[in-house]
Amino acid sequence: MLYAKKNNEKIRAKPNKTASCPYCEKEMIPKCGDIKIWHWAHKHNQTCDYSNKVETYWHLKWKKMVKEKNCEVRTEKKDELKIADIKNDSEKVIELQHSPISIREMRKRENHYDDMIWLFDMNERYDNFHFKIRGEDSKNQYVTFNWKWPWEKIKNIKYRSPIFFDFSNHLMNYDNWSELDYELKRFKNYPFSSYQRKCIFQIKKIHNSGRGWGIVFKKNKFILKYMKNILQDRLKEELKENML
Ligand SMILES: [Zn+2]
Repeated sequence: MLYAKKNNEKIRAKPNKTASCPYCEKEMIPKCGDIKIWHWAHKHNQTCDYSNKVETYWHLKWKKMVKEKNCEVRTEKKDELKIADIKNDSEKVIELQHSPISIREMRKRENHYDDMIWLFDMNERYDNFHFKIRGEDSKNQYVTFNWKWPWEKIKNIKYRSPIFFDFSNHLMNYDNWSELDYELKRFKNYPFSSYQRKCIFQIKKIHNSGRGWGIVFKKNKFILKYMKNILQDRLKEELKENML
């Protein structure tokens, strides 16, 4: 967790500080190492419904981009408390999901947050995808994919909330480099200099076979659409320069 609670304020982790979990109220310990972004964790033997999952660097990195009030936002509905990873100023929740999730849990969250999108961390799984560019308009590339080992959970359901796959730490896995070069020359809107290769993939359809289609766009376009007004001030320049 990026923020814990002390005297009803959200506070960031610092060495030797103490604060409590905004969900279960138990005391949390600051994790202030060299590698991961500084964050809070529960004590080893404590369970908490909110953070029984290990929070990855990927979670923290996305959360750290937005302002404090938009990060880990408490939302209560019918006496049930959930902590939304990111909530923008139009009340849209962005749920960050690193590990496979059950349909039941997906439904629960979709019912709780009226307006939400899913962002799945697919960076470690990108080798399981094979993509083919099928066409483009001024804004998007239309791509079919073959997902080698699709999660049972995700392939055969009708999604209520849009699903995005984050491949932004990797290049998309095109057939081969020459095809990629050819495609990139053809799509003048996609100069794809090294930092612009960061891609987000929106799933439009997945069949039982693991095949499906969707659209690919640059990560900064995703950020512009859903996070523009809630970004930390220090990132505004980077967004303008196309560097996020
Ligand atoms: Zn807790």
